[in-house]
Amino acid sequence: MLATSLRCLAMASSAPTVARLPAIWRSSWRPVCNEAASPSPVASALANIRAKVKEASQAAGSQTEPRLVAVSKTKSVELLREAYDAGIRDFGENYVQEVVSKAPDMPSDVAWRFIGNLQSNKAKTLVQGVPSLACVETVSSKKLANKLDAAVATLNPPRHQPLDVMLQVDTSPWEGTKSGLPVDEASAVALHVRDTCPNLRLVGLMTIGAPGETSCFDTLADCRRTVAESLGLESEDALELSMGMSGDFEAAIGKGSTSVRVGSSIFGARG
Ligand SMILES: *Cc1c(COP(=O)(O)O)cnc(C)c1O
Repeated sequence: MLATSLRCLAMASSAPTVARLPAIWRSSWRPVCNEAASPSPVASALANIRAKVKEASQAAGSQTEPRLVAVSKTKSVELLREAYDAGIRDFGENYVQEVVSKAPDMPSDVAWRFIGNLQSNKAKTLVQGVPSLACVETVSSKKLANKLDAAVATLNPPRHQPLDVMLQVDTSPWEGTKSGLPVDEASAVALHVRDTCPNLRLVGLMTIGAPGETSCFDTLADCRRTVAESLGLESEDALELSMGMSGDFEAAIGKGSTSVRVGSSIFGARG
């Protein structure tokens, strides 16, 4: 509603430019607000993505549909509001300063998910600056886990629940971009989080993967099996798989993704 009325205002305020239009258009110009009939570009894109998520999930025979995280890095709060008005609550952000500055301008029931590279020395800024931080998906070292754990411990007022975290796993080491844990180190960090970080709760594994290489999704699924065994979990399903972006979310859902991170297909290309 707010976004709608803002757009109507914007249309109304552009009225003076009508004088520059050719007469034939000018005669029929009027500031109509039929927004109910035409959803915002973000809302239409979302409807499209949701339908594809549903279809891929049904095709995969999943019991539950994956979470759709709207990746809103570099996008304005106005655009985030459009997604919010269309029902999105899970937003993914990559930069600490950006999410810390956007969070106060969005409703408090937004579940922020941090999906960018996080330096240990920014953990406290993130945890303190984003009260409704729901998950940090990019834990890739014991050091970062310790810093996040300590940051949650110092929160005042305290969080009602531990902070959810995922381990980011590097499933395409041949690319040499070095974001994420090597597959064979994931179990050790998972045990470290469980045994020494009481303010964190390990909820899953996340990967980016190489573009077009859906085998990376298999690698993450295999890694989950190993980690679940190391933790002595009854079922690997106790851990989520965060994988799939605009270009490959349907393939990722086919490989068992429980959380897809979609940015440009919702908000448009990033500049
Ligand atoms: C930017 C980003 C996304 C979204 O990518 P799109 O291709 O725009 O959908 C997903 N995951 C991570 C980790 C990202 O940095």
